[in-house]
Amino acid sequence: MPKPKYTSHVGMVDILPDESPKWRALETIIHEEAAKFNFEEIRTPIMEQTELIVRGIGQLTDIVSKEIFAFEKGDSHYVLRPELTAPVVRAFVEHHMEQRGGSQKLYYIGPMFRAERPQKGRQRQFHQFGAEVLGSDDPVADVEIIALMIRVYERVGISNFELKLNSVGDPESREAYKEALREYLKPNLGKLSELSQKRFEKNPMRILDSKEDEDQPFIKDAPVINDYLNEESKAHFQQVKDYLDDLGINYTLDPHLVRGLDYYTRTAFELTSPDLGSQDALAGGGRYDLLVEEIGGPSTPAIGFAAGMERLFIACEELEIELAKEKSVDVYFVTLGDAARKWALTHLPKAREAGLSATMDYMSRSMKAQMKDANRENAHYTIIIGDNELAEGKFTLRNMKESEEISLGFEDILAKLGV
Ligand code: AMP
Repeated sequence: MPKPKYTSHVGMVDILPDESPKWRALETIIHEEAAKFNFEEIRTPIMEQTELIVRGIGQLTDIVSKEIFAFEKGDSHYVLRPELTAPVVRAFVEHHMEQRGGSQKLYYIGPMFRAERPQKGRQRQFHQFGAEVLGSDDPVADVEIIALMIRVYERVGISNFELKLNSVGDPESREAYKEALREYLKPNLGKLSELSQKRFEKNPMRILDSKEDEDQPFIKDAPVINDYLNEESKAHFQQVKDYLDDLGINYTLDPHLVRGLDYYTRTAFELTSPDLGSQDALAGGGRYDLLVEEIGGPSTPAIGFAAGMERLFIACEELEIELAKEKSVDVYFVTLGDAARKWALTHLPKAREAGLSATMDYMSRSMKAQMKDANRENAHYTIIIGDNELAEGKFTLRNMKESEEISLGFEDILAKLGV
């Protein structure tokens, strides 16, 4: 009988050892930059209650209507998290985090799950890093969130991105705008796509998001929300723009950048890259001043962003940015005979205590094969150990790059190589 062949699920990708160093390098950058901005890490469970995600993201969104992985067990409805804003807000409310005082400045890194049709830059298990500020409606928070997001790309070496910016106002501004939008679209309602016709009554702003060809002529000349912002929302938006100018952060105003749900308020932004092809969004975010209350918490203004890590790596490839150093080991113990193997095994810990990475052959190979293996492992040094060396207490230390050898006692070798 043929043996079964197992594969990972479609759109769920293994990160193999050759790839993991660049993930760690990126994670290190994120941790370091978040620390510089004085943000604290939050880690929430991979699964949440389905009801939270439906409420937090919205019943009518693609994510909830088509893309969540959800199942029941006993009386519980589980969902694999498709994003982390709703879970972070849930944790904030559940643990009364407002009692810690001040605004909560949180960041996260981790896998998300959406049952989308996989393609380049779009997976079913993918990774995001992101940050949220809960408890501030000050434009300073908006600008710090954008600055943190951009800083990570700059550290990586990606700078040819475009920051698109808009304000979706507050509910009052939005009602006025929705009315104007309906008024404008109404005469041509029959010519809009089926989906847009469905959205007309409840959520006309999402029509602006439409990718359908037949909607484009009407979207192009649609009224823009900026003309309907009330004084407060207008002043907030102006302050965000002024601060971005002060920081020298370039942006393009995009009046069609909308988020359809009512708890999204004021600032909305997206970071796109010309290096990504059709899935060109690196990251996105905005204000959600009404979400915490929607999820049962105290009235708490908030803003955040989420960034796709796979897409960041695609941009790196296009720009030929190497995030990780080539793999290597400081020292490889090459052994001849059983006594040497035993000596090596018991002296590896000493090398590691001295701060070196150190390894030896696990396969009882010949000296020639071990030297070859040391090259494959990209060893900086080999220590050659045989019966004579053990008797003398002196070992050949070979610098693999320079092809230079010296004979030294083990302590002297550690003193020379130790960090
Ligand atoms: P969103 O939570 O939809 O605003 O997405 C934020 C970012 O996550 C996007 O800009 C993408 O970079 C990334 N992203 C979203 N969905 C996927 C996916 N299915 N596969 C890979 N990256 C994704």
